[in-house]
Amino acid sequence: MEDLIAELRAMLAPGGVLTGAEAADRPRGPWTRLGEPLAILRPVSTQEVSTILKLVSAAGAAVTPWGGCTGLVDGCLADGTLALSLERMAAIESIDATAGTMTVQAGCILQTACEAAEAAGLFLPLDLGARGSATIGGNISTNAGGNRVLRYGMTRDLVIGVEAVLADGTVISAMRPLMKNNTGYDLRQLFIGSEGTLGVVTRAILRLRPAPVSQDTAFVGVDSFDGVARLLRRFERRLGGAMSAFEVMWADFHDLVTSAPARGRRPLAGRYPFYVLIESLGGDEAADAARFEAALAEALEDGDIADAAIARSGAERAAMWALRDDVGQTSRNGPIIAFDVSLPIAAMEAYVDQVCAAYTSRWPGLGRPWVFGHLGDGNLHILARVPAGAGLAERHALEEMVYRPLQVIGGSISAEHGVGLAKRDWLPLSRSPEEIALMARLKQALDPAGVLNPGKILAPSAR
Ligand code: ZN
Repeated sequence: MEDLIAELRAMLAPGGVLTGAEAADRPRGPWTRLGEPLAILRPVSTQEVSTILKLVSAAGAAVTPWGGCTGLVDGCLADGTLALSLERMAAIESIDATAGTMTVQAGCILQTACEAAEAAGLFLPLDLGARGSATIGGNISTNAGGNRVLRYGMTRDLVIGVEAVLADGTVISAMRPLMKNNTGYDLRQLFIGSEGTLGVVTRAILRLRPAPVSQDTAFVGVDSFDGVARLLRRFERRLGGAMSAFEVMWADFHDLVTSAPARGRRPLAGRYPFYVLIESLGGDEAADAARFEAALAEALEDGDIADAAIARSGAERAAMWALRDDVGQTSRNGPIIAFDVSLPIAAMEAYVDQVCAAYTSRWPGLGRPWVFGHLGDGNLHILARVPAGAGLAERHALEEMVYRPLQVIGGSISAEHGVGLAKRDWLPLSRSPEEIALMARLKQALDPAGVLNPGKILAPSAR
């Protein structure tokens, strides 16, 4: 290993290899476990990534690709491997306003890319809580979802081209700026959502949209879950595809983020079992606002919503979104585990009640888990406090409570966070043996020696 690290040091640009104190001193986020990599490699070009993978493969070592390391499934856990950070490949190479595309390097921070699109009069719709530190390469590798999937799709739907490096150092440059390219296997998809296990994403072409002219936002209280479901369908119908967010909070989460020490204030005077943040983006300020308000008024009249507040300024809109984003409040009294599941909307209310009942009966005194999510996408986030002194057995029991019912419902153990290491052992609840076997064959074909992000998604023994 020392020979390999010395060789890498000689081959890479200055600062390309961090070891010892330099590697240990790097800042680490509160959510993501990174482990203890043997070294942190920081290439400056695709060619350097290729060189790294050739040398690492030849030496029988392994790499763990790092983007912004904001994931929640231990996908960046790098124990015993070389961390491969794309942080020095962060350039926005070009924006083509006519084509509506951006060519960007993998290490570019999501928010930086969004701001560059905005400066060009365009819009990169990907938006998530970690926008200030997550990277485009990480977003692609994990097929990140977020707050506007309802309208614009997951990251997969925003990627026109990908450049990636295979385990043996081969550079696959699928970087044609074409919206339609129906020439055989879509190789981009091998690298989108495969969590760095099939290749290291180095560059991408992203699809940009026209910058929205109007943004209408409301925060509503709803008396029943049936009302929430009807409201979703109503707004889909009435807004003709312009709805960009339909974020639901169960009352416990709403109460948490609107009570001290949280800084958020209640947008509505009354108390309701469900709250929904609805947003629509459009191209005509006056007409869009009128249509949005008419849909709200109808819903009030029909009794689907009990009360509504419309954001009248950017500050009011930001305050509504800040409630949704203030997920950190859930850990103010101790550690939590965050779950990210998807299931049919019709099954949601009973599922949440089942999970919460099982949790409170096993651990009375901890309160109900907090539930919120991108309901329009069938995606719920469940955040549960970990009992004091809990070990692996308690963690497993909690996972069992959340994941097992999904198998019967036909839901997914991961809506948007991915599998990584944290959900790997539960994968059979959401994927058939044949599907998992095919994943293993793909892994075997592209990375037979297990060089890339070993142990993530599939156990090494499954290969
Ligand atoms: Zn989410």
